[in-house]
Amino acid sequence: MELNKKSIEDVDISGKRVVMRVDFNVPMDDKGRIADKTRITTTLPTIKYLINNGAKTVLMSHLGNPKDGYESSKSLAPICESLCHLLNMDVKFAKDAIGNDTRKMVDDLKGGEVLLLENLRFHSEEKANDPEFAKTLASYGDIYVNDAFGTSHRKHASTYGIGEYLPCVSGFLIEKEIAMLGNALEQPEREFTAILGGAKVSSKIGVINHLLEKVDNIIIGGGMAFTFIKAMGHSIGKSILDEEHINYAREILEMAKKENVNVFLPKDVIVADSFSNDANTKVVDVDGIPEGYMGLDIGPKTCKEFTDVILRSKTIIWNGPMGAFEMPKFAKGTKDVAYAMAQCGGITIVGGGDSARAIDSFGLQSKMTHISTGGGASLAFLEGKSLPGIEILMDR
Ligand code: AMP
Repeated sequence: MELNKKSIEDVDISGKRVVMRVDFNVPMDDKGRIADKTRITTTLPTIKYLINNGAKTVLMSHLGNPKDGYESSKSLAPICESLCHLLNMDVKFAKDAIGNDTRKMVDDLKGGEVLLLENLRFHSEEKANDPEFAKTLASYGDIYVNDAFGTSHRKHASTYGIGEYLPCVSGFLIEKEIAMLGNALEQPEREFTAILGGAKVSSKIGVINHLLEKVDNIIIGGGMAFTFIKAMGHSIGKSILDEEHINYAREILEMAKKENVNVFLPKDVIVADSFSNDANTKVVDVDGIPEGYMGLDIGPKTCKEFTDVILRSKTIIWNGPMGAFEMPKFAKGTKDVAYAMAQCGGITIVGGGDSARAIDSFGLQSKMTHISTGGGASLAFLEGKSLPGIEILMDR
């Protein structure tokens, strides 16, 4: 679908003005320091390529969700500082994404120099996909490069509207994301297994619908599994429930049978008397969840079964934790799944967001084939949706 898009290597950028959307929406700690630089470091190959080819590079990003106007805690100034260190060069910083001063800084750029614009979302026109705003951003470049995979499911001025005015190509990060996610979906080595978890069924409906036609196995864990367990007629105590989707869960189980897809649900779970790491816990089978208890992780029999499926799979896509893994008492299921993926020897793809954070916390990043930099964007991709920020790129 979106696999054959032009990349930065398909066009001549030497000496040209390049305006590039990146996703520097990094987590910040309470002292205003960058808590995780992954979103910056994953874009460095494209930025270095532009520098080495003598392009005049204008970088633009958002950070957080400011209302409309400047907020010091959401300024990209600290990111510019970090970028200077990472690139070992002076990166210029424009204190506003638009205006005469910024225009002058853009005009003064020399080949090989880089300018970072202040947070685009300080202007509400960015999220509104305002055509004038998009046109102004476009006027900073001769070519537009999108390397902001994490934002490419958004129809904003800098991810979509700008496409009206410039030739558009992908950076290396987007190219890799599309190749990894796209190949896994379109040409998977089998068995092909999807692992889905997280809190809610509702946020995974599109993915389940799309993947049912493609995978051999679907493993369902995490909070969302309890809606399925309820649909199978069991009591789930105080476990999280997506009441509106009980029927949908039933339909999915029937559809999976028709499509010959194996669905693996928890056989046993760890239940707790409160949502706390200090809670009293026990392991119970899913048909024996006591009143007053909530399921917060998969149990040992389930860990074993999920591990066996993962170890025999050749392609695995994972999105969503198996339990409330932020609390150590309920992290084992997520950890076992992560370790099984690390060991399986197949293609292993981790959707962004919580699953990526879990992999980080277990120190298993280097053992995965690909960890997506976009939670929402990778979900949209797995749902088979066309992503606006990829749609606008030129076809090869
Ligand atoms: P999502 O954003 O839907 O992927 O959900 C991720 C969140 O689901 C994480 O913060 C987990 O702590 C939470 N979660 C996973 N399993 C459970 C569960 N059994 N009960 C409550 N929350 C859960």
